[in-house]
Amino acid sequence: MTASVDTRSSLLDLARAAYRGISLYAPDRSPCAIDLSDNTNLFGVPPAALSLLRRAEAPTISRYPSLYAGALKVALAAYRDVDPSQVVTGCGSDDVLDSAIRAFGEPGDLMTHPEPSFAMIPLFARMNGLRAIGVPLMSKYDIDAEALLATGARIIYICSPNNPTGTCASDASIRRVLDEAPGVVILDEAYAEFSDRQFPAEGARRENLLVVRTLSKAFGLAGLRIGYATGPAALVSEVEKSRGPYKINALAESAAVAALTEDREWVARHVATAVRNREGFAIALRALGLYPIPSSANFLLVPIPDAQMIAAHMRRAGVAVRPMPGLPVVGDALRISIGPWPMMQKALVALQGALECE
Ligand code: PMP
Repeated sequence: MTASVDTRSSLLDLARAAYRGISLYAPDRSPCAIDLSDNTNLFGVPPAALSLLRRAEAPTISRYPSLYAGALKVALAAYRDVDPSQVVTGCGSDDVLDSAIRAFGEPGDLMTHPEPSFAMIPLFARMNGLRAIGVPLMSKYDIDAEALLATGARIIYICSPNNPTGTCASDASIRRVLDEAPGVVILDEAYAEFSDRQFPAEGARRENLLVVRTLSKAFGLAGLRIGYATGPAALVSEVEKSRGPYKINALAESAAVAALTEDREWVARHVATAVRNREGFAIALRALGLYPIPSSANFLLVPIPDAQMIAAHMRRAGVAVRPMPGLPVVGDALRISIGPWPMMQKALVALQGALECE
């Protein structure tokens, strides 16, 4: 007995010290009739991408994919109006963010991010041996450019629209960070398609800026795991080295190219519906006496006491939302993804039921 305990602790010593306090990402993903918990596209899959996946041929599966997803880079470059040399892809934008942190930060370096923001960022920093410092969002949810810069961090992460608040950083704050940052700035625009406040394109041509996006949200391809970044070719190629070859599987690459070239109208139509439903849902929440934070994304953050308990009630009624207890700046809140209106109506009924049980 004692021997087995000893063995376990010595095995733990074999791992990197930075990993000891890290646990697996484990949100409640158990099946639920309506799942409004992960901000994916609840309207389905773009049709050209789906039809391509259904027609997959054996060699696509038995052979290795392209090394660095060249065809996908061309399609993304056309979508974002940049040169293919300015695009790097990855297995979800998670992979792109992780690779970028590894590419631009030495172990021991400091990285800073607003708080609350994308929860994986401090973990990716630690997994790469960096130290992460959170800087609280200011009133009206703008980033605190001065405080982010004052950390002296080698990498500054900004998320706009921000997960989980749904709010955008102001252009002036982003510009100031870009002007004064000592190193690379990573601007995560995972939800950009749902926002009418995108950071201007001329700003995105800065030499220290990497803009990270994904096909998991507006493009409805979360299961295929495709993320990408655009930026100066010199920055992008460092991320590509750090990412390594064969990260986009062959089926995912061809389906993503189909979505980017043939399904843009489908994407735009469902983005417009999501934005309309977001505003309608916000009005309905206010009628329940709740005050969702004005959002530029495909979800709403709703400050509410006892978020865990409310979410548990809603799950029992068949609607999964993401409880976010004790968020910095916000406190307890629910993050609710926006989908087709019948889903939102069921969410309202479940929420009302949960509030009545309180
Ligand atoms: N950035 C933000 C802000 C996100 O919310 C998410 C997903 N929740 C990601 C990146 C990662 O998305 P993916 O890996 O699916 O591209």
